[in-house]
Amino acid sequence: MMVIRKGIAVSPGISIAEALVIDCEDYRIPCRTIEPGQRIVEVQRVRSAFKDAVRELTELAAAQDQASTGKVQDIFAVHLRFLRDRSLRKEISDMVRSQSVTAEYAVYTVLRRIAAHFTHVKDAYISERAADIYDVERRLLRPLLGRRREDVDHLTKEAVIVARELSPTQTASFKKQFVNGIATDVGGRTSHSAIVARSLGIPAVVALEDFSEQVRPGDTVIVDGSRGIVIADPDPTTMTEYRRYLQEFYALEQRLDAVKAEPAMTRDGTRIDLLGNIEFPEEAEDVLDKGGDGIGLYRTEFLYLSHETDPTEDDHYNAYAKTIQVFPSRPVVIRTFDLGADKYTQRKRFMPERNPFLGLRSIRYCLQNLPMFKTQLRAILRASATGKVKVMFPLITNLQEVRQAKLIMRDVMEDLDEDGIAYDKDVQVGIMVETPAAALTAASLAREADFFSIGTNDLTQYTLAVDRGNELVSTLYSAVEPAVLRLIRTIVQDAYKARIEVSVCGEMASEPEYVMLLLGLGIKTLSVTPPMIPEIKQIIRSVTLEQCHLVARKVIAMNSERHISSFLRSKAREILPEAF
Ligand code: PEP
Ligand code: MG
Repeated sequence: MMVIRKGIAVSPGISIAEALVIDCEDYRIPCRTIEPGQRIVEVQRVRSAFKDAVRELTELAAAQDQASTGKVQDIFAVHLRFLRDRSLRKEISDMVRSQSVTAEYAVYTVLRRIAAHFTHVKDAYISERAADIYDVERRLLRPLLGRRREDVDHLTKEAVIVARELSPTQTASFKKQFVNGIATDVGGRTSHSAIVARSLGIPAVVALEDFSEQVRPGDTVIVDGSRGIVIADPDPTTMTEYRRYLQEFYALEQRLDAVKAEPAMTRDGTRIDLLGNIEFPEEAEDVLDKGGDGIGLYRTEFLYLSHETDPTEDDHYNAYAKTIQVFPSRPVVIRTFDLGADKYTQRKRFMPERNPFLGLRSIRYCLQNLPMFKTQLRAILRASATGKVKVMFPLITNLQEVRQAKLIMRDVMEDLDEDGIAYDKDVQVGIMVETPAAALTAASLAREADFFSIGTNDLTQYTLAVDRGNELVSTLYSAVEPAVLRLIRTIVQDAYKARIEVSVCGEMASEPEYVMLLLGLGIKTLSVTPPMIPEIKQIIRSVTLEQCHLVARKVIAMNSERHISSFLRSKAREILPEAF
């Protein structure tokens, strides 16, 4: 039966394919006690779960044998060793017998206890092994809970991924060739998984309540990432309608192709720098293809997120050099690690903080992990010899942090001098303005920074006290709330007074209806998600700066987000009707 759900549109486009339903990664097993007579049955279930898991893993290892690297095989071997360990199985069975609990609860409790033990070991290599224990736990729980293993890595045909939740790392590992669309129960418009989906160009809708429970694997699913609608098992009329939408979407994309080679210049001749946001070096090519002028935000933490081990200085260098190669004479803004909050290293993944968005995140994390920070800075500086690199520090809240980060960078420069290694001695160092604290002290921060980039995703969340990834409060999250706009205006004015460049790299810059407002507020550099470059460029080329100033003046005088939003939408519709 057809199921229609309205959620939050996070990545535009339409996809129609069979559903691949992914398990919730983190099972929570309630403690259920059993009748003493049941114990023998539960112990038997433990035994067969181990048998199933070993068989599954052996098959997987054999299938991977040819293609995979030694590293993958090593991981399989470690997991198999755990599963074949008799004392582990005995400990779980003993718990079922002595405490009369279900097999799944005993598996869950025993493995979590072991994982916690690993997590607290100071040695990084050992504490990272906690990830393996969780993987083994999931493998054992899946047969016990009667869930089939759905494996995205082994997709051989196009599919729509349906899940309760996806981590940024999971989303980043999707192959665009097979993953056609994404639909998740939770999430917000600027959560990092959504950002990754956008930059991969995969249509996505989030905040769909219990959609993942309504869909059966193999159902046909339509993801309408432009309107924020998903449909499972569509009827023939709906299918016909959506096939037509798909044609229209392609037609718009083709029309916009014409604009790619043109400059991002307003009708009255103001040149705007239209840059791209990337998470991986490979995306730099997309930015170039779409007609972007350089890289305005390279989210380097993804280098950390997709590997089990920390990247080496050469891993960093190679990634940066690869990006610069695509834009040898254009700006490439490399942001230092923005780890923490919803982006954990493999090691920290199982040590959640109480309030992670207010916790040890970003520049704070770097300043407390100096060897890691210095390794990254050294690689960025080495890469700066090959292009026009700019360094950017995220989540600044006070002057001290900028000074400290710059001091560390100077240390690294001295080391490079001593080693006779080349780097750009005039490399520009800027900061992200993405906290109200930084916005309100922008005038003094501007004396320490060569440029500002406004991170509206975080600025909105911290100003409005609305978690950017929480669907329960998503209607309160808007970058055009008067409070946020006033801060943006302050930042731009202070940057102008200090004569430093100011850009916007938050998702706000990728929204067609906000372009006129941002230009009108004085922004001359926008950094956007690569697939949106042509559309944003088309808008820039269709307006005059004077029109934009008028729009901004009107908006700043308004005191309701609803009015601002609808005013901006109607203005953008006048400019580019076919996009809406
Ligand atoms: C922002 O906060 O607006 C930003 C660009 O950084 P990120 O989305 O990576 O937090
Ligand atoms: Mg941010």
